[in-house]
Amino acid sequence: MRDTQLTVNCFSCKQDQAVKVNEKDLENYNNGAHAQHVFPYLSADERELLISGICGCCFDKMFEGDEDES
Ligand SMILES: [Zn+2]
Repeated sequence: MRDTQLTVNCFSCKQDQAVKVNEKDLENYNNGAHAQHVFPYLSADERELLISGICGCCFDKMFEGDEDES
């Protein structure tokens, strides 16, 4: 089994984030498996990046409770 490096561009900060996953796991994920099940070795932040396309840093900011909306 080979590892592959995914590069995900965070839609919030526009920074490329690299996540290394197993190719077979990625295939399972693309086939509808839950990220938590196929990528147990990734951090929560890395999984979030794959699931929602947002990096851990931005994810934290979104849920930090800053409600600056007018
Ligand atoms: Zn970000």
